Amino acid sequence: MDKIKIIDLYSQHLRIKSELDSAIDQVIQESQFIRGRHVREFKVNLEKYLNVPHVIPCGNGTDALQIALMALDLPKNAKVIVPTFNYVAGAEVCALLGLKPVFVEVDEGTFTVTADEIEKVITPQTKAVIVVHLYGQCADMEPILKLCQGKNLFVIEDTAQALGAEYMFPNGESKKAGTMGHIGTTSFFPTKCLGCMGDGGAIFTSDEGLANYMRQIAFHGQKKKYQYELIGINSRLDTIQAAILDVKLKYLDEYIETRNKNANFYKEAFANHSEIVTPEIQDSSTHVFHQYTVKVKNRSKLIHKLEHADVPYQVYYPSPLHLEKAFSYLGYKEGDFPISEKLCKEIISLPIHTELSEEQLNYIAKVVVE
Ligand SMILES: *Cc1c(COP(=O)(O)O)cnc(C)c1O
Repeated sequence: MDKIKIIDLYSQHLRIKSELDSAIDQVIQESQFIRGRHVREFKVNLEKYLNVPHVIPCGNGTDALQIALMALDLPKNAKVIVPTFNYVAGAEVCALLGLKPVFVEVDEGTFTVTADEIEKVITPQTKAVIVVHLYGQCADMEPILKLCQGKNLFVIEDTAQALGAEYMFPNGESKKAGTMGHIGTTSFFPTKCLGCMGDGGAIFTSDEGLANYMRQIAFHGQKKKYQYELIGINSRLDTIQAAILDVKLKYLDEYIETRNKNANFYKEAFANHSEIVTPEIQDSSTHVFHQYTVKVKNRSKLIHKLEHADVPYQVYYPSPLHLEKAFSYLGYKEGDFPISEKLCKEIISLPIHTELSEEQLNYIAKVVVE
């Protein structure tokens, strides 16, 4: 059996190497390395895939969040709600822009935020919510959208881990992750479900005014070259990365299907073992399984076993953001978000990538069950 990897980008690459090589070659031949037709073509194809009128490619997923927040023109010190059980990006850009991150608890089963938890931390200064579709499944958006509409709050969806996931509304309508709130953001970091060979990101919206504004912000505040109407930033998706992503976008649904197959395999393998709590999947959302994260009571024992058996694992995330030093100025303390604090001690992510063999899956499951 080949050595198991937490993610196997090279094997995935080899399957479509000739297509990728020719896409990269084309960019080199045309030598337009910034902007140009490949960025435009990928943008249009992603708009079609997501069924959203405006996609704005940008430098990475963190920039996408920053541009989204800048476009909302919130007053200084306005409060923005972000989950504490999360990657740092959302809270970080709030702080950088002079906004106040307000942390919110997540649901213990789905790891995502809920309308009930959001409602608890809303104050008159709250202006926006960053909903994170963590690990690959949509938060329960219908009640969240209703709540935020009633309270006049902007909704940004961080779709870095859930590109391609689909949410089903009670009326039967379904929408792709990132296209339900005012603005959606994503990352094409190499390990994401749709990853490039470096950094990349994108922003989505149905609002034409916001789309134009965000395009301008990402372009040094220019609508026309050398006319600076506002202070912007420089955030672009490299042309080579766009060409790569345009090839890989065609395979995204296939990748998601394989990840789901692997997740089903684990679910069955762990079904009779109550010490291993497998991820809860809501009826209202599909899951793209960016991560396959289980909960175990005795994690250090499992880690010891996995290391001994040469099975890679990750802990996303070892600590909730409200207890991180960078956010200590906000005054949170241990015990403020007990579910997130507990999750950080119990969660562990197993390999779920598209290149796992049946033999490897069997081996991982056997080691975990033991
Ligand atoms: C990866 C990730 C980001 C940041 O993306 P970058 O491209 O690395 O800047 C933001 N939010 C979440 C939830 C992520 O997983």
